[in-house]
Amino acid sequence: MLKKRVAFYTLGCKLNFSETSTIARNFQNEGFDRVDFKEVADVYVINTCSVTDNADKRFKTIVKQAQKLNPEAFVAAVGCYAQLKPHELADVDGVDLVLGATEKFKITDYLNDLTKNDLGEVHSCEIEEADFYVGSYSFGDRTRAFLKVQDGCDYKCTYCTIPLARGISRSDTLGNVLKNAEEISKKNIKEIVLTGVNIGDYGKGEFGNKKHEHTFYQLVKELDNVDGIERLRISSIEPNLLKNETIEFVSKSNSFVPHFHIPLQSGSNQILKLMRRRYLKELYVDRVDKIKEVMPHACIGVDVIVGFPGETDELFLETYNFLNDLDISYLHVFTYSERDNTLAASMNDVVPKNIRTKRSKMLRGLSAKKRRAFYESQLNTKRKVLFESENKEGYIQGFTGNYVKVKAPWNPRLVNTLHEVELTKIDEDGLVRLEFIKELAV
Ligand code: SF4
Repeated sequence: MLKKRVAFYTLGCKLNFSETSTIARNFQNEGFDRVDFKEVADVYVINTCSVTDNADKRFKTIVKQAQKLNPEAFVAAVGCYAQLKPHELADVDGVDLVLGATEKFKITDYLNDLTKNDLGEVHSCEIEEADFYVGSYSFGDRTRAFLKVQDGCDYKCTYCTIPLARGISRSDTLGNVLKNAEEISKKNIKEIVLTGVNIGDYGKGEFGNKKHEHTFYQLVKELDNVDGIERLRISSIEPNLLKNETIEFVSKSNSFVPHFHIPLQSGSNQILKLMRRRYLKELYVDRVDKIKEVMPHACIGVDVIVGFPGETDELFLETYNFLNDLDISYLHVFTYSERDNTLAASMNDVVPKNIRTKRSKMLRGLSAKKRRAFYESQLNTKRKVLFESENKEGYIQGFTGNYVKVKAPWNPRLVNTLHEVELTKIDEDGLVRLEFIKELAV
């Protein structure tokens, strides 16, 4: 008998990608073959995101794409948007099943005989019920894995729907994280990226057990001892949870790389307070200074939101100048957009959309300038590069530990290998170009 085929489409963050992998493994255990989303399948699973702009339009397009490939296929939606707006998704033509946060990992129990439903069936939950933890990891390409260590968030930032979509903060046990890291290392994956919603809050248990079992610092120290992992990357961490002890440990570690991504969101204390962030800009400066004091070559990425209610021209300029003066390496710029059921959505002093767009463009320009300056500061230094697996128009690309993107003429023998190279030249496309790698010249 021919095996049933399942295909996945993942929207949103690394956490969603790692959870799609876990769901896919459940399907494979039930005897399904996993195929690409561009292929004909019997089941299409869409792992949704609530942060994506035009999430509803995007979702409809993906459903149509699945139906075009196989009009008889069973279509299921899971993920953050499915938790927040289950009935909206179920009403989309062609959708058979929508699962909320507690049900998504049990999806194979809901498939029955794969007969299409006349109306989309919803199995949702109150988000308070999503208090248990399901571990997962996924592979970005053949070189990198995203390891989930934490889920949910106890913070109450006024613009954010993630706590409504993913529930309270809870974490994997230290033992499980280490076991997963060992499994990944045996698969010849060279880099692990720690993933979660608020990973600095690592240590809270399941079922509302708020006692910290282990701290994020302990997690970092223990992971550093796992054999066979060449690189560990912290990814994104809240500034108030990035402690000196962690920064100092990373500066001495052989496997944790000098790269931090730290959400700022605004360089104006007035806006930070409206956002209910848990720090003021002075703390942010202190974190950047500490990192640069012990790792002058560290790469620091910043998340920032433009157009939050109340952000006047003056307050935006305060953010712009704050970032301009700060020793950071790049920005991820988000244009504020209203989300249902958030406090910010009902705030006064709404910023017109055209102004939001203009501010976003200004900060993206600043980001390009910052990145260029950071890359230039790295020229004539020697750094280890992990080469990736794709042939991009005759070039292979990779990242240094401190997140400088480099390219070299395509050479398959470089894939998933680490090489110490001298960074010599920035190309027209803004990447550092390596002409020749002695050890592996073709
Ligand atoms: S820290 Fe704030 S922005 Fe981040 S997930 Fe939690 S509530 Fe949302």
